[in-house]
Amino acid sequence: MLFPNDYVDARERFRTLASRRGFALESYEHPAENGPQGETLSCDVARLGPSDAERVILISSGAHGVEGFCGSGCQAELLASGLLDGLPGDTAVVLVHAVNPYGFAWLRRTNEDNIDLNRNFVDHSVALANPGYDEIHNWLVPRDWDGPARAEADAAIDAYITERGLRAFQVAMTSGQYTHPDGLFYGGKAPAWSNETWRSLLRKHCANASQVIAIDIHTGLGPRGVGEVICVTSEAEYLKAKAIFGEDVTWTGGGEAVSAQVGGSLAHAAHHEIGSEKLVMVALEFGTYPIPETLEALRAETWLVARGNLKGEQADSLKKALKDAFYIDEPDWQMAVTDRFLGLFRRMKECRP
Ligand SMILES: [Zn+2]
Repeated sequence: MLFPNDYVDARERFRTLASRRGFALESYEHPAENGPQGETLSCDVARLGPSDAERVILISSGAHGVEGFCGSGCQAELLASGLLDGLPGDTAVVLVHAVNPYGFAWLRRTNEDNIDLNRNFVDHSVALANPGYDEIHNWLVPRDWDGPARAEADAAIDAYITERGLRAFQVAMTSGQYTHPDGLFYGGKAPAWSNETWRSLLRKHCANASQVIAIDIHTGLGPRGVGEVICVTSEAEYLKAKAIFGEDVTWTGGGEAVSAQVGGSLAHAAHHEIGSEKLVMVALEFGTYPIPETLEALRAETWLVARGNLKGEQADSLKKALKDAFYIDEPDWQMAVTDRFLGLFRRMKECRP
């Protein structure tokens, strides 16, 4: 399997496979940050097909940093698969590798400013309140991780879930917040570098096409190895997505999707840049472990960065736990993920408007 060991490995493999397969490559290098090995951090874009293509198939990975292990692996498997042969003459394939390279390299779901990119594409001039999150923030990021503050916080969280249910807790925690920069699912105070980069590459590669079909690859929600196709915007797009990807597409607006309803995602930005009449964009969410486990790993890593010691032994184990929660480095999982992804790519390739 072609899944990477780390960001450096992922980037190199992506660029090598893409240029070998005839893709044109470009890099959007991060202006301020490097990786843990001193490496350049870059969002790399590879394009195959005519520059004035009528149709664009867009596949992006790593918006949630550490989830890029899976997304990068899918992109590498596609590049090696033969499925890019026989593309219709009016079609271009655009692969966006590591939308959030900082999070990928440093094993964070968020970016260099603890921003969750899928909560960052909002109008930051308007005050965005999330009282549900305010209520639980101090429990999520307690003063200590191994002492009394943590024990108290866990008891409070357990009581909350018993009283109001896990779904209510998940919604309060994950729907996005703009007031706790050291907290979870923080949307930022301004557009992040990855936000500007995403918008500008969409303008360059998609704005002139008459049809764009896009998948943004994620992990961490749903049953192990299952890839749920989720529409995160309107019902109209949901119906179009079902026609392309199949009846099992879900919609966050309908309440049946594994993820909570969020505003400010990459898909929302894509609708803005490309135009809803031309675009169908979905998230592809691959399951790893049960939600309480992934949320706990996220909480621990967020605590580590906010209050812990990033140089210690505990740092290594909490970082590793985060990576393991969002990426299963086992062949059966990788194979299930690859099969599902390539099956969806086939549908995108064959779909006609
Ligand atoms: Zn994600």
